[in-house]
Order: sequence, then C-alpha cells, then structure tokens
Amino acid sequence: MDVSATKRRLLKVIFLGDSGVGKTSLMNRYVYKKFNLQYKATIGADFMTKELRIDDQLVTLQVWDTAGQERFQSLGAAFYRGADCCVFVYDVNVTKSFESLSSWHEEFLKQAEPADPKAFPFLLLGNKIDVDDGHSRAVSEKRARQWCDSRGSMPYFETSAKQDYNVNEAFICIAKAALTNE
Ligand code: GDP
Ligand code: MG
Repeated sequence: MDVSATKRRLLKVIFLGDSGVGKTSLMNRYVYKKFNLQYKATIGADFMTKELRIDDQLVTLQVWDTAGQERFQSLGAAFYRGADCCVFVYDVNVTKSFESLSSWHEEFLKQAEPADPKAFPFLLLGNKIDVDDGHSRAVSEKRARQWCDSRGSMPYFETSAKQDYNVNEAFICIAKAALTNE
C-alpha cells in the first residue's frame, strides 16, 4: 500500500476582506452548515477545521477567522504565517469592499512573504449575491473577473452564505488550490 497517498495534508486557509462582507458566514456555512443573521465578534478558537477528500488525498482544511481586527487591517503575523491559500472576499453590493481588495492583496504579500508570489494560490469570492432588489448590485461580475485576470487568472466565485449558493464549490476549489502550495 502506498502510504503517501493516505497521508492527510493539513492546509491553512485565510480569508481577507473588509469587515461585514461575510467571511465568517461563509466559513460557518461550509464547516458547520449553518447561517446566522448576527455574529458576535469571534471568541475563542482562531480557526475551524473541516476534513475532506480531494481525489485520493485526505485533507484537513484549517480555516482561520478573525475577531474583527480586519477593520484596522492589523491581523498580526500569526494569522498570515504558513498560509497555503488566501481567499479574498468582497460584497457584490458594496463598491468599497471591492476597491479594498488591492490593498488586502498587498497586505498579504507584505505579511506572508510567499516564496513565489506569482505562484501562490489566491481566490476571489463575490458574496451576498442573494441580495437582489433590482439595484443593489454595485460591482459587476465582469469587473470582478477583470481584477482576477490582472492578477494571474485567480479563480472567481459568486456566492451566498445565506442561501448556500456556490459555497461548497468555492471550498473545493480552495482546497485544490491550497494543495498546489508547496
Ligand atoms: P465578516 O465581518 O466578513 O466576517 O462578515 P459576517 O460573516 O460577520 O457577515 C456580516 C453580515 O452579513 C451578517 O449580518 C451576515 O448575516 C450577513 N451576511 C453574510 N453573508 C451573507 C449573504 O450571503 N447574504 C446576505 N444577505 N447576508 C449575508
Ligand atoms: Mg468575521
């Protein structure tokens, strides 16, 4: 039996994006299959874990959450250290949250110092696509995809943590991307 094929990989995933875009909600939806309208600032654990299988590889995703310090863009070195995948999140209804993405990207590169920034796995999620009263959407899918393409074809998903839309798909892509990090 090939032991290496059954060895579980521990993958650290961090979520970056403005406060209120739905980072905690997306993690809760995926890891605990639940959604709350209100979250208290995260208390206690720094991360949640979820085990899954990607092809023949057993994977433990360690998904790091914040206690709201992203409000001040000061997440601390431990948050970034050893990340295998970095997921950017914005709210498709809030232009400012999209415009912040570039500074989150810069902040990641500065703090995490990945060996090869061009090869490092990033993803972008446009969350809250369920909010549709006809004119709440502020950032088009096209604009978001252009941002991703200008950063080396970063994968892009539009999600709803509330309605559980595309969350599973996004996390499978996250796990696969994280697995490519050496
Ligand atoms: P964070 O600060 O990025 O962690 O954002 P939270 O996960 O705390 O979410 C902020 C608020 O947005 C909460 O009231 C959530 O219930 C709400 N929210 C999160 N995701 C969605 C979504 O997909 N759709 C809608 N309508 N609301 C959401
Ligand atoms: Mg949060």
